[in-house]
Amino acid sequence: MDREDILPVLYDLVATIGSEISVKPLLTRTLQRLLYHTSFSAGFICLEIPPCKNHEGQVEVRLDAAVGDFDLTGELGKPIYLPCELICREAVRETDQAALLSSLRCTHTQYKAYLRLPIDHRGVIVLLAAEIPETNLPLTTMLQPVLAHLARAIMLCGNNDAYTSGLVTQRNLLEKVFESSYSGVMITDAGQRIIEVNPAFTRITGYLPDEAIGRNPHLLASGRHDHDYYREMWDDIEHSGHWEGEIWNRRKNGEVYPSWLNINPVRDNNGTLIYYVGMFSDISKRKEAEAQIHQLAFYDQLTELPNRRLLLERLQQAFSVGARSGQHGAVLFLDLDNFKTLNDTKGHDIGDQLLAEVARRLNTCVRDGDTVARLGGDEFVVVLDSLSQISDEAAAQADMVAEKIRDILSQPYRLGNHAHHTTPSIGVVLFRGHQQTLDDVLKHADTAMYQAKTAGRNTIRFYDPLMQAAIEARADLEEELRHALEREQLCLHFQIQVDSQYRPLGAEALLRWQHPDRGLISPAQFVPLAEETGLIVPIGLWVLRTACALLKSWQGDATTRDLTLAVNVSAKQFRNPDFVAQVQRTLLETGAKPALLKLELTESIVLENVGDTIAKMRELKLLGVSFSMDDFGTGYSSLQYLKRLPLDQIKIDQSFVRDIVKDANDAAIVQTIIAMSEVLGLNVIAEGVETEEQRVFLDLRGCHAFQGYLFGKPVPARDFEERLKMQLPVQSLV
Ligand code: C2E
Ligand code: MG
Ligand code: MG
Repeated sequence: MDREDILPVLYDLVATIGSEISVKPLLTRTLQRLLYHTSFSAGFICLEIPPCKNHEGQVEVRLDAAVGDFDLTGELGKPIYLPCELICREAVRETDQAALLSSLRCTHTQYKAYLRLPIDHRGVIVLLAAEIPETNLPLTTMLQPVLAHLARAIMLCGNNDAYTSGLVTQRNLLEKVFESSYSGVMITDAGQRIIEVNPAFTRITGYLPDEAIGRNPHLLASGRHDHDYYREMWDDIEHSGHWEGEIWNRRKNGEVYPSWLNINPVRDNNGTLIYYVGMFSDISKRKEAEAQIHQLAFYDQLTELPNRRLLLERLQQAFSVGARSGQHGAVLFLDLDNFKTLNDTKGHDIGDQLLAEVARRLNTCVRDGDTVARLGGDEFVVVLDSLSQISDEAAAQADMVAEKIRDILSQPYRLGNHAHHTTPSIGVVLFRGHQQTLDDVLKHADTAMYQAKTAGRNTIRFYDPLMQAAIEARADLEEELRHALEREQLCLHFQIQVDSQYRPLGAEALLRWQHPDRGLISPAQFVPLAEETGLIVPIGLWVLRTACALLKSWQGDATTRDLTLAVNVSAKQFRNPDFVAQVQRTLLETGAKPALLKLELTESIVLENVGDTIAKMRELKLLGVSFSMDDFGTGYSSLQYLKRLPLDQIKIDQSFVRDIVKDANDAAIVQTIIAMSEVLGLNVIAEGVETEEQRVFLDLRGCHAFQGYLFGKPVPARDFEERLKMQLPVQSLV
């Protein structure tokens, strides 16, 4: 080959070298081109310095690329041992070459040509050939520029290879993480369309990749979260670039499960959103475990009731609630009478069955917020909260629940094949706020329970002796009230209502209890008791009947014919579904004129259920009955409902009338009530009028109907009628 011929060859080789980007193809392609031009088979070794040398001072190298006839390809990858100094030394002498070539005899090929070129102090390329090509140029000179170029290309391609293989490793790693992750991964595009999911996604959700890709993640929604929940979630992602939280999702099979979800938006270098990555794990197992731990820690396994620990926590809460609201709470400590005997004679299995049944019954006796706990054995504790602020009333409320419990636990039990009967002993303590410690309250309730046992079992005892006495007195009164009707101890008194000229307009019927030992008992004392026990329903009906019978009897007499009769109706009585029918029947049976019957309601009745009140009032109005709003001004007098009620009259409460002349505030209230009644087209009456001064004051301000001691105290019907007759001349003078 001549010097002129070599130029295109070199050009071709350089072009070849320049077009490769990876080391291996670079070497192979370069050798191929060389073979094409020179027809000699050759191989390349490309190695980095410092290579490790073995104990004989040799370097282990491998042939990186080979082409040509002589079978160097079989050598590829196999170790070749070269003397270290030949490879590593800067300059190479001819003699070295010969030595090197002979040392290559370790393989079956005998190399004849050898060219060594350092690559920028980092390595060397060694060109090996099986024969020396026929050329009049020294091989070194001929290939020197190509090899120099090649050395640079190898360096660049080496860097590129390292970078690419780094990327590949990284990608492989990510893929492995993605594929093997225990968490479900879902990637969406910026428009929230799923573009990739991993196997865990399928395992958790049940959706195959094909079923999920292209869909919106809403595919997984359980329906348990409202629109606001998702809006807040996306707000968070937008503002803080991240969202993490618990979310209920639905599997393909419809099952709803809790999961812990992380959402991260992914942006490109320009900050444009390209993906959302959602990672989630199914936490139902964890939740179940938590619930189980909670159940074990805070609940009794046999009855599933709260245990002592949870009881103490709830009691503490009840203390705090009471401290804020001023309301009382109560602890009922109860123990089953003779439980030990049952356990000993019938066995623990039967004993357990009884305890479970007692727990079930106890739960039916309390309201939602109350706590029923089992302390162990046959000891149970019930915590009641939100009882009255007044201690006597709270005691009565606690007593009522205790009675209910005593009654329900005394009902017969069926345990396996055995019928069983048991009773509880119940100790009661009231508490309010943090006045007593937790320990004290429980200790006192326990003491009271022992007192109940000592008092003969199947008994309720209050820890406080005064309270116990009050409860007993109340229980006695209740028992007597039950018989008051049949024993004809109830009667009605009538108090006159007059106009500005003292002319009688009618009367109010007021209930009295003529007790054989206690004398006349005021309705203020026994009406609330009658309300609580439900006795007000038969008593109220009796009042209505008696009043209507009187109205009827008045119709025959000129002095009484036009008088109206006001009858008080209590909340429980009015709420009775039968109330309208009862009034109708009573009017029919007695023959009283409905227009003369006036029912007095209180604001509390209305507020309990405005809709029902209005409906009932309308029905009664159709019968011709009229309505007065009693004790007006003492409740939550709201114009809102007042406007809607079909009322005829407002009765100003006596508490405003009492000081009306002295107290500017009361005077202002009364004036407002009168003005409001005028606006609403209602007639107005004042009760509790005791002095002429009060009457004149009211009269001047537009209230022209009165009731009070000034005109007459409540008296029995006969006295009432007699007095009317006596007053007749006075009225006719006017
Ligand atoms: P009320 O309906 O507001 O009755 C007016 C009360 O004021 C009556 O008390 C009456 O005796 C008293 N009173 C009347 N004039 C004067 C006065 O000039 N000065 C003073 N200091 N008091 C006066 P009473 O009879 O003790 O009744 C108390 C409450 O018991 C009644 O208040 C009413 O809410 C209830 N009540 C009475 N009878 C019945 C009834 O048959 N059924 C129902 N559900 N409740 C009744
Ligand atoms: Mg009244
Ligand atoms: Mg009143």
